[in-house]
Amino acid sequence: MIGMNLPDGLAPVADGLHLWAPAHTGTWGFANCLLITSGEEAALVDTPYDRVMTEALVAAAGSLLPAGGVRIIVNTHGNGDHTFGNGCFPGAEIIATKAGAEHLCHEPSPQQMHFLTHQTPADQPLGWYARRHFGRYRYEGVEAVPPTLTFSGRHELAVGDIQVELIEVGPAHSAGDLVVHFPGRGVVCAGDVLFAGDHPVHWNGPLANVVAACEAILALEPEVVVPGHGAVMTPRDVQCYVTYLRELEALIHSRHAAGFSADEAAADILGSGFHDQLGLPERIVILTAVEYRHLDGDTGEPDLVALAARAADWAYRNRGDD
Ligand SMILES: [Zn+2]
Repeated sequence: MIGMNLPDGLAPVADGLHLWAPAHTGTWGFANCLLITSGEEAALVDTPYDRVMTEALVAAAGSLLPAGGVRIIVNTHGNGDHTFGNGCFPGAEIIATKAGAEHLCHEPSPQQMHFLTHQTPADQPLGWYARRHFGRYRYEGVEAVPPTLTFSGRHELAVGDIQVELIEVGPAHSAGDLVVHFPGRGVVCAGDVLFAGDHPVHWNGPLANVVAACEAILALEPEVVVPGHGAVMTPRDVQCYVTYLRELEALIHSRHAAGFSADEAAADILGSGFHDQLGLPERIVILTAVEYRHLDGDTGEPDLVALAARAADWAYRNRGDD
């Protein structure tokens, strides 16, 4: 299991913008967080997965933080690895999309994550997978703190002298994704619309919506794009990611038309070595199952744990010796 090895500093991205980038690939939960500081004001785009990580971020930020600390949080979407640290900033305004706030209802709670990582059978696929990829986090005592301000479409705010535009681009990765644009600074935070280094996971889909979200990011003409996970990207990297999504969409749709089940289609795509330089290949199982839901006209809420369990089954069957 990959340990924590958390960054002890923040990397400058632009004037007033600094990135806390855990940068581990091949596993789940290490999300990027962007600190915005100007004068006596500070805001944070996304919060880490647990209190230990959030305290590490605050310590790493050190003298960048004004005396009043972080007063505004933006959650790019409702997944716990971007929101469970919210409770470490009591009294902060927490901003998300209305759809993102409603999605919190369907996200596994900290208590459910603790159960999955501690009380499921360790020799069964889901218990094995949960411990391997989520067992390092401390979910005890974490309270999922919901947004205090929600919007649909667009929302603008100022952090000191820094103008911040929040643009809803979901449903794509999740029901309520937003991206954060800093006009004049050439920076966009994409949340989990974008992953670098690993196969992405998209719980809501369809993949065409994720492509559209990427195109909305590129239309902002950024120089630097911060993905939800992994290393900072250029617009060219985003273009390559769009190509990946379109290739995958075509592979899934053709197998659906040929009568494959979702799991058969995923196994076939994985067997072909699709982008096998990327980590977490089992996420193809989730991406395929989600795309099939749309192709089959299933409009119910996606069950995140059930989807993860299907990926865990594939990973368990294809595990190495470690
Ligand atoms: Zn994430």
